[in-house]
Amino acid sequence: MAKVAINLSTGSLQQEEVIVGIDLGTTNSLVAYIHPEDKKPIAINDQGRGTIVPSVVHFTQQGETIVGTEAKDYLTTDPANTFYSVKRLLGKSYKDLGEHKDYYGYKIIDDDSEGLVKIRAKDKFYSPIELSAEILKELRERAEHSLKTPVNRAVITVPAYFNDSQRQATRDAGKLAGLEVLRIVNEPTAAALAYGIGIDPNEEKTVAVYDLGGGTFDISILSIHQGIFEVLSTHGDTYLGGDDFDRAIINYWIQENQLVADTVHQDKQLSQELRLKAEEAKKALSQQQLYVSKVGESIECGITRHKFEELIAPIVARTMESCKQAMADAKLQPEQIDAVIMVGGSTRVPLVYEAVSTFFGKPANNSLNPDEVVALGAAIQADILAGNRKDILLLDVTPLTLGIETMGGLMDPIIPRNSKIPTKAGRQYTTSVDGQVNMKISVYQGERDVVKENRKLAEFDLKGIPAMPAGFPKVDVNFILNADGILKVEAIELRSGVRQEVEVKPQYGLTDQQVEQMLMDSITHAKEDVATRMQIEARTTAEQMLYQVERFLEKNGQHLTEEEINLTRENVQQLKDVLAAGGDKDAIYAAVDRLEEQTSPFAERVMQISIKQAMAGKKIE
Ligand code: ADP
Ligand code: MG
Repeated sequence: MAKVAINLSTGSLQQEEVIVGIDLGTTNSLVAYIHPEDKKPIAINDQGRGTIVPSVVHFTQQGETIVGTEAKDYLTTDPANTFYSVKRLLGKSYKDLGEHKDYYGYKIIDDDSEGLVKIRAKDKFYSPIELSAEILKELRERAEHSLKTPVNRAVITVPAYFNDSQRQATRDAGKLAGLEVLRIVNEPTAAALAYGIGIDPNEEKTVAVYDLGGGTFDISILSIHQGIFEVLSTHGDTYLGGDDFDRAIINYWIQENQLVADTVHQDKQLSQELRLKAEEAKKALSQQQLYVSKVGESIECGITRHKFEELIAPIVARTMESCKQAMADAKLQPEQIDAVIMVGGSTRVPLVYEAVSTFFGKPANNSLNPDEVVALGAAIQADILAGNRKDILLLDVTPLTLGIETMGGLMDPIIPRNSKIPTKAGRQYTTSVDGQVNMKISVYQGERDVVKENRKLAEFDLKGIPAMPAGFPKVDVNFILNADGILKVEAIELRSGVRQEVEVKPQYGLTDQQVEQMLMDSITHAKEDVATRMQIEARTTAEQMLYQVERFLEKNGQHLTEEEINLTRENVQQLKDVLAAGGDKDAIYAAVDRLEEQTSPFAERVMQISIKQAMAGKKIE
């Protein structure tokens, strides 16, 4: 990618710009690029500091910003100004955090439960986007320093379950860090790419990506065909990971040394030392059978691999439950999985590797460094977008249906779930009332037939439609979903050209559990949803009919006999009564039919009269 070119105006050599791939992780982040000579992805290791940059940001007393390993040291000495796991807060409201509010050692602001969270450091407030941007800036600087070239463009990865709001937040963080984010890519997609899966457009594969990081776990089942990466299912736990292994070891040592847990936890210095020791022990046990050390003079910190495995067995079992669930959701049997890919530092634990391989009935792929694999895949994606691999086309799909609200609160799907993105789709609508000059467009995401069961993404008014009879305006509503899964909605009234558009930036995000729940609900409620939809449609038809008939009587009453008018009023009243009594759809349709049958000859008669009047040179009313 980094080709050398000669700048003709200065005569100097200049390097062509590098596009990097970034794994913005909850615990650790990395940046990678494609080496210009061997064309292979490599993670950037600036000044021998290692490829991994801990996703920790610290603001010093002097107002400096420190990111990475150095910042981590402040977790115990200055926890209020040291921020970790901010990825979990991206695109979230305080309400979304639920029971996990106490997890964070810093102050999360709770004054507005619906808005996006803010974090307080001294007397300043930061959004998770700003804090993530600090991590991205650090990665960008390291890449520029190491490659000796400006880095302005990047591909950034996110978990497959990230929703619009979280993706948008990630993109904004990139922008704040001075990066043009060419694409937001799913982490499992990147991992598969790093293993070369999906590069050949003729290849068809079903892949399981098991990602166990520091504090999060997810399993994604991907179907890859013709360069399309389709997420068949995803499951996991955003509060489960290697940190739990560390805690299990600490608790074991507390027990073995007959310490009092509360006293240990209150002693920040001691708990931090124990935490570091426990992580060291855990990593050592990935290679060896026994670890022996000490904290201070008297605390014995020894553990065998056997004991460690016994401690973490329940945690590993929970991840296997998620695998089962993901497979059930994808409607697949383990033997239908072509490849299993291990991602995340915690997959180095031998017990984890064995459990995953056993579950899928084949050895999992771990030949690439599990810390780096996502960043490496992101670099490949960056290379593809840079146009260096013209033969490859990569596509993702949207996880939930996108649509708008139509009469009666029904969901009208515009882009169905699992559509390949980028994509564009639209539909034409009209007004329901004469002289209507505004039209409310409400955008929803979800699988249910009634919008109130789905999630509202945005709402706007198409204003300034010229007054016309109901049904006359032609309003095109178009959904443009870009490659990152970010939606733009535009509405145009074709007769007048009035136009309005919004970029959908949802107020606050959905958790992965919520996305799953929405999909599950749509299945469990499918039957009742159909019934509700039919009922609402019947009511809407009736209301439209009543509106039309009443308008007709108002305008054209003079052409009807008194008897006709009375009969019409009677039938109108009957329909109104059925509606008021909450009648079922059959009763409603019966009353609608009666009214329609009785009044349909009128329209024709009035038409005849109008024509006669027109021919007599008179103006139609
Ligand atoms: P994330 O994707 O959440 O940012 P990572 O994939 O970087 O996280 O994983 C970090 C976790 O991996 C930490 O809990 C760390 O202790 C663990 N880890 C790293 N190396 C090893 C190892 N050799 N054995 C066991 N766990 C490890
Ligand atoms: Mg990760």
